Amino acid sequence: MTSPSGARVTSTGTADTTALSRELSGRHVVVAGLGVSGMPAAKAAHRLGARVTAVNGGDGEGPRRQAAELEALGIGVRLGDDRTLPEATDLVVTTPGFKPTSPLFEAAAEAGVPVWGDVELAWRLRGPDSPPWLAVTGTNGKTTTVQMLAAVLRAAGLRTAAVGNIGVSLIDAVLGEEPYDGLDVLAVELSSYQLHWAPSLRPHSAAVLNLAPDHLDWHGSMEAYAAAKGRIYEGNQVACVYNADDPADAKPRTEDLVREADVAEGARAIGFTLGAPAPSQLGVVDGVLVDRAFVPDRQQQAQELAEIGDVDPPAPHNIANALAAAALARAFGVPPSAVRDGLRAFSPDAHRITHVADVDGVAYVDDSKATNTHATEASLAAYEPIVWIAGGLAKGATFDDLVARSASRLRGVVLIGADRELIGQALSRHAPDVPVTDVARTDTGAMASAVREARALARQGDTVLLAPACASMDMFVNYNARGDAFAEAVRALAAEGRGEQ
Ligand code: ADP
Repeated sequence: MTSPSGARVTSTGTADTTALSRELSGRHVVVAGLGVSGMPAAKAAHRLGARVTAVNGGDGEGPRRQAAELEALGIGVRLGDDRTLPEATDLVVTTPGFKPTSPLFEAAAEAGVPVWGDVELAWRLRGPDSPPWLAVTGTNGKTTTVQMLAAVLRAAGLRTAAVGNIGVSLIDAVLGEEPYDGLDVLAVELSSYQLHWAPSLRPHSAAVLNLAPDHLDWHGSMEAYAAAKGRIYEGNQVACVYNADDPADAKPRTEDLVREADVAEGARAIGFTLGAPAPSQLGVVDGVLVDRAFVPDRQQQAQELAEIGDVDPPAPHNIANALAAAALARAFGVPPSAVRDGLRAFSPDAHRITHVADVDGVAYVDDSKATNTHATEASLAAYEPIVWIAGGLAKGATFDDLVARSASRLRGVVLIGADRELIGQALSRHAPDVPVTDVARTDTGAMASAVREARALARQGDTVLLAPACASMDMFVNYNARGDAFAEAVRALAAEGRGEQ
């Protein structure tokens, strides 16, 4: 875009609003979507002197409240199903809610109007003093890894924040106002949606944790999904962190994405593995997390970082997350002791393998956040024997591979939710001897029934694991509510055992 002269300069924190306001001042910027990323995008473009129109498909109470807030600032808002491109648009800034196939983008492409994601806008807002980005993506484990990374950076005495797809707008973080002023480094979670629309992003270092089919309806194909994830490696300055344990036949492997990326001179490919690390990898030896990448002599040496017991929970997939976080922190120059201290200080968010209670010698674990088969497989790999509570909205997933690979660990299964039959069919094909109980009710009391049925199947020493492999919206507002219902039912069971009412 050409930039008109006479730009209005807004001075904020560490952001380089001058250059961008020269580009955007007086221009018509359309922000597609409100919410966590759309609101800061609309406000930032407005502050940069652009004429802003925010468009949003939904027109319920939440969007209307947000619309009123923007209108009070002089920002135009269009709510409702109209997906056409507003007149004389110079730039579209989009949020993940809009699919790439939306007519809005077709119209933008036809008119030669550029489209940026909110992350692209944030990246372009950075100034010379903006903190570098350590970025994380992957099908599962992003939030956990970014939080571990932030904990490790903090333990090294660095000022940091976990931002991005974790629910904190990158635009707010980059603008550098309270509480994001004076940060040394950002721990950034990025989704495939955000990466799709962020062509100029060039992180200090980045990690792709794993790749499994997900969000294919949005991206159109596995290739397009993987390509979006791979974009995180573009222009990396120090380290491209990949999963060295990707299956040999995976297409593509995270290492392939590193190979395809155009990185800065001297940037290194760093693998992480649950086995013993090769040179330029982090891995595990005798229960110890070790670094054989950021050491003076990686052919001969490895540096101890932490013990498996320092990671909460110490499940294999979570050790992988810890290694990826450690790799990014070490790429940033963090000392080994800070990796250990940071990992010890970290505790996972709720509903991610949360131990709720032991009742009659049976452990009850809430992994309601396991909303796809890949996450659930990781969860099932962490326990044995398991009474598995599964089901909900399948979102087009198939369950044969998951069930076939996990069958030997299952004591029994309790199925809930709209698509439970799909899991039931996979169980009858691949685990015909495992007892299955079907909870047909879908009202709010259904989880209490499921927990009771699970208890009936479990024996002392077993784990009852809620890892549904499905979305929750058929029965609950979200996965938090589903996990809360599980925890409540377990606590009721424990209270009964103690003779309480
Ligand atoms: P994301 O932010 O990518 O959704 P979370 O850290 O919130 O990831 O975890 C989401 C779910 O994925 C949880 O159920 C968790 O048990 C599972 N999970 C976490 N890390 C991994 C991993 N490395 N591989 C597979 N599943 C994982």
